Amino acid sequence: MSKCKGYAALEARAPLGPYSFERREPREHDIVIDIKYCGVCHSDIHQTRDEWSKYQEESIFPMVPGHEIAGIVEAVGNKVTKYKVGDKVGVGCFVDSCRTCSECRQGLEQYCTVATIWTYNGRDKEGQPTYGGYSDKIVVDENYALRMPENLPLDACAPLLCAGITLYSPLKHWNTGPGKKVAIIGLGGLGHMGVKLAHALGAEVTVLSQSLKKQADGKRLGADHFYATSDPETFTNLASYFDLIVNTVSAQIDWNEYLKLLKTDGTMVIVGLPEKDIPLGAFSLTARRRSVAGSQIGGIRETQEMLDFCAKHGVACDIEIVPIQKINEAYERVLKSDVRYRFVIDMASLGK
Ligand SMILES: [Zn+2]
Ligand SMILES: [Zn+2]
Repeated sequence: MSKCKGYAALEARAPLGPYSFERREPREHDIVIDIKYCGVCHSDIHQTRDEWSKYQEESIFPMVPGHEIAGIVEAVGNKVTKYKVGDKVGVGCFVDSCRTCSECRQGLEQYCTVATIWTYNGRDKEGQPTYGGYSDKIVVDENYALRMPENLPLDACAPLLCAGITLYSPLKHWNTGPGKKVAIIGLGGLGHMGVKLAHALGAEVTVLSQSLKKQADGKRLGADHFYATSDPETFTNLASYFDLIVNTVSAQIDWNEYLKLLKTDGTMVIVGLPEKDIPLGAFSLTARRRSVAGSQIGGIRETQEMLDFCAKHGVACDIEIVPIQKINEAYERVLKSDVRYRFVIDMASLGK
């Protein structure tokens, strides 16, 4: 075992503070990553506050969150072939899966029917708790690591590993491209990546935001159109307009109102996670053979495809760098949507 330093919530709802723990010695297919940056995802807040207990078997404390991990390979096991010392690599939301079920064999490890092993707040195959990226190092199997873009800043690419792939996967699955009209509901950490990626894929992109406050930003990020959902005219003007709507908001909004904005055979994909169930009217769907779907991050193969796509198109996240000592303040600001658009922890601050 090797000693690691990080930040953890020692118990549910406790503020995060310094924490020392151990990680396994690298096995033959493992790489050891010197973590340089870690993005701050809204789900880090939900999990350290134990707000998902309804959906999870257990929450494991002390909890070291973080699943948007970017760093440099520091050591490799003796059978590693994909990476060498010095490579820029990343780790996203999971670090292993069963590898044999039909989902795993299709590269859909995030939907593994046996067990996706989450990067933190999970248990590895030996039953040991997993610890995330708010730390100095992580040990991971080479098959569950990603190659980061060479030509883009590593800090701005860290959030691609959750926010980026969460939007890229449904955009690709529902054939986003030239001639397609795509709406993104909500312009936060997820939504801003949706705008950039849908634009880079060649679609016509519309942001549906509560107000017009972020309109200039939305256009700068690549949106063709920007509408306020507080204005009832938005819903009449855009009736039956979109091929695809990606809903990134976790607030309670009336999905039926948004479904009316889909043309025949259109789909609304849910990627935000409201705490309470939202009622769905049958007529919202039957009227134009519309669908509601959900999507959760992406598999390793698709995440690599997304990173390569971002490298090619110069797409990264808009970030604000914070030292680890400010993480509790950063959480409060995330809850107030007071960040444009993702916090990224500079892990060099751990040593201070
Ligand atoms: Zn996340
Ligand atoms: Zn599996």
